[in-house]
Amino acid sequence: MNLQAASSLKANTVTKIEDLESCRNQWQNQTIGFVPTMGALHEGHLALVREARKTCDRVVVSIFVNPKQFGPNEDLVTYPRMIDADLDLLAAENVDLVFIPDEKSVYPDGFQTKISVVNLDTILTGQFRPQFFSGIATVVTRLFMLVRPTHAYFGKKDYQQWQMICQLVADLHIPVDVIGVPIVRESDGLALSSRNMYLNEQDRAKAPALYETLLAGADKARAGMSAKDLEDWGRETLQAAGFESVDYFAARLAEDITTNYTCAANQSGRLIAATWLGTTRLVDNVEI
Ligand code: AMP
Repeated sequence: MNLQAASSLKANTVTKIEDLESCRNQWQNQTIGFVPTMGALHEGHLALVREARKTCDRVVVSIFVNPKQFGPNEDLVTYPRMIDADLDLLAAENVDLVFIPDEKSVYPDGFQTKISVVNLDTILTGQFRPQFFSGIATVVTRLFMLVRPTHAYFGKKDYQQWQMICQLVADLHIPVDVIGVPIVRESDGLALSSRNMYLNEQDRAKAPALYETLLAGADKARAGMSAKDLEDWGRETLQAAGFESVDYFAARLAEDITTNYTCAANQSGRLIAATWLGTTRLVDNVEI
């Protein structure tokens, strides 16, 4: 089938748990790659889907804007929703199934459970978005139980989230391989994000400075600048580049982001930042 024909088809979708289960039950003894998303798909999401497609017999993508990970003053209502375009993109990637549950299917009346990875959910982004990581841990656990994937794909763009999922899967002994996929960027370095469409023209022009500052900061970290000095330098540099406020600019150990990076320790690090342009929060990270 040529690409044009494929992209004019919609991907196979289910919205009900019973329909998901009846598909899943036909795939016993097959590898199932799962890509959880909130939709408004872009090349970053598609990189995860392609990774899954390379390895797994079946690929399942979920689209669910998870209310539990949004705070009361955050963008749950305005979060971009574009299901038709998403389904075209997923059909072109030859996805086997797209699960698009409604809120009641994910959180039925009386739902009480909250999952929290305690060492990771109060640091970095967790300090600014207190409900965020437990909201994600809860929905991902629930989706894992429903989809029962053998492999699950997460972007390193959301580095703290990826680390949290790895910890969650290890702690609960969930039988799934978690694969972290490299960050996909625009040609000017801006990490792709569904929220980039909120940026106005002026802010979009400033946005690549985040990646540039992270790259320069990683050089400084390797050259021995302390995490504290690096944080101060990162804040000043981003503010000079027009970012209104900087939530954090943190050099941490790559395998343990609760601990500051020091070059003397001879371990790999990750420089992670979250900052604001207007009402849009950008998160990004680079290797040290
Ligand atoms: P979201 O729809 O924002 O919840 O993202 C769904 C998945 O796509 C998460 O695992 C993200 O980390 C991943 N993702 C989002 N943007 C990118 C990107 N630019 N590069 C790689 N992965 C990404």
